[in-house]
Amino acid sequence: MAKLCKAGQQLREQIDDDYPDRDRKSDGWIADARHMAKGTSDHIPQDGIVRALDIDADLNAHKEEAYALVEKIRKCAKRGDKRIKYIIYDGKIMSPIMNWKRRKYRGANPHRSHFHISFTTLGDKDGSWFDLEGDRNERIETDGGKLGENIPRDGSSDIPSGGLGSRRNCKCGSSISLA
Ligand SMILES: [Zn+2]
Repeated sequence: MAKLCKAGQQLREQIDDDYPDRDRKSDGWIADARHMAKGTSDHIPQDGIVRALDIDADLNAHKEEAYALVEKIRKCAKRGDKRIKYIIYDGKIMSPIMNWKRRKYRGANPHRSHFHISFTTLGDKDGSWFDLEGDRNERIETDGGKLGENIPRDGSSDIPSGGLGSRRNCKCGSSISLA
């Protein structure tokens, strides 16, 4: 039986705690059979672990709240939480490429009903607290420009190298190129 990685479980728990009345209709984690057959996706279990999470953008709060939450996750990743691999929301992708700068997302599904978070293998067993408010590592942020450079791109890392052939599908039917 496949499991959502520990980091994904923890992040979802924190979001549930913050938004107990949120709409979960567009939530998801494990790929359905059709997408399983299709090939590569972080939603497809690898060694029994799923490393992707979809969160419904309707947090039952102010409409802008989803943007604010995504921004918190992005900043957490930028400050150096390497469990987060990339985030997609509302036509934008955020990843270590260009140091977590929002870039145009060219996949078929622009991800407006939900946002997608992919996790690295570091999150498989590490379910520690996500510092979304940023009060713990504020000092590091001034040095944020250097954080992205520390990520190895030699193939031993699970961070996408960004090659043209680097395409991943997610449950939502999207197919993304990390180039
Ligand atoms: Zn997804």
